[in-house]
Amino acid sequence: MRCSSRVRRPEGTRFLLYPQPPFLEGFERPEVVTVSKPAGTVMAGPSDDRMYTVYPQDKKITYGTRVGPRREKFSPPWIGPSFEPAVPDHEGHFDHLQPGTPQFEAAHFYGSARFVLDIWEGYFDRPINWHFGDQYERMELIIMPRFNNATMGYGFMEVGGYELDSGEYQPFSLNFDVIGHEVGHSIIYPIVGLPDPDLVHNDYYGFHESAADLVAIISSLHFDSVIDHLLANTRGNLYALNKINRVGELTQHEQIRVAANELTLWDFVGGWNDEHDLGQPLTAAIFDTMIDVFHELLKARGLIPEQVENLSDRLEGSPEYEPVMQGIFDELYASYPGDVREALEDARDYIGTYLATTFQKITPQLTYADIAEALMEAEQDVTGGVFENVFAFNLHKRGIGYVEVGPRLTPPDEDSHAFSARTELPEFRCRHKRRRGKWR
Ligand SMILES: [Zn+2]
Repeated sequence: MRCSSRVRRPEGTRFLLYPQPPFLEGFERPEVVTVSKPAGTVMAGPSDDRMYTVYPQDKKITYGTRVGPRREKFSPPWIGPSFEPAVPDHEGHFDHLQPGTPQFEAAHFYGSARFVLDIWEGYFDRPINWHFGDQYERMELIIMPRFNNATMGYGFMEVGGYELDSGEYQPFSLNFDVIGHEVGHSIIYPIVGLPDPDLVHNDYYGFHESAADLVAIISSLHFDSVIDHLLANTRGNLYALNKINRVGELTQHEQIRVAANELTLWDFVGGWNDEHDLGQPLTAAIFDTMIDVFHELLKARGLIPEQVENLSDRLEGSPEYEPVMQGIFDELYASYPGDVREALEDARDYIGTYLATTFQKITPQLTYADIAEALMEAEQDVTGGVFENVFAFNLHKRGIGYVEVGPRLTPPDEDSHAFSARTELPEFRCRHKRRRGKWR
């Protein structure tokens, strides 16, 4: 399957994007990415018909905070002073901007959000409207350096940054995963629907975080350099990523490290505290499915023998098989690097299409059992059941569709989704700041 989401169309607008935060080894240089908007249609900001970027000079209060004598929610549009906008070159591109300037940050923020939206509109095969479309025509992408998190809400996506151990400041506007995760939340709302806090099931919270992570990870696999990095380090032996203790050695990619976890829903039968943790079994089930589909595709091309799969099962409890497995992939990748790459890109696009199909089948009242059912249905819709067993195996392994999650054990903290009043629409204030330890 070659998916229409391949967005490197020659007529688009060029941006320089870092696939991973630039302080990570192997990702120091930005990659040229072409987004779908034709050159000349992305205006200063950058801005287009769906989103516009603003970099205020001194924004002190985050959107969503209660302000003024009537304690109204602080909302877009930003009307205070801002830095000069990023301006396109004479051909309409933005890849001439210099890192280290507010204009580069603004262009990186916009380019990342637009790239992710392009990819997912490709998987959905239609435009995705914002859930706040009745009030705001466009999403405001706003940068507020003193905010140590990233969030999306009604009409906006707001990003700040964090400090490394060295004291160096790292803006989230340069963090593709964080932006991709927030765009993920923005995509889920209009497709799945807005939750009624009285009816919504606990599983919805875990699902939303997982879906946002999956949107980010599938999007990041559209960077040539991310695929290069992954294949150079594993030679296609992605089974090795399932071994959590080795993930750090094999990839510095934050989303892949999150996806390759060992949590199952059985871990939450007694209850849960944080929706980000509750989302991890689903993220892992989908990530494992992508790896299995990748290997099925390699098998279908006659590139790996049937026994490799059996060997992988034995690997679970026997570390001595690891070098044997790695040897098979070292040889395979040395001989057929192009085929291995194509199989991985196809597996990625199958998963993107499955997810887009699944998101359209579920409602905010969903449970994990509904998600399992919708995923299996989506598999039937997309391939007619070719990878049915792979899905069934990975969902079962994570307890999805087999076990009921227990109650929330502690009240939502500041990192949880805000459902403070019936009349307020939720905002996703994600846990990006807690993750920074893993980036150090
Ligand atoms: Zn989130």
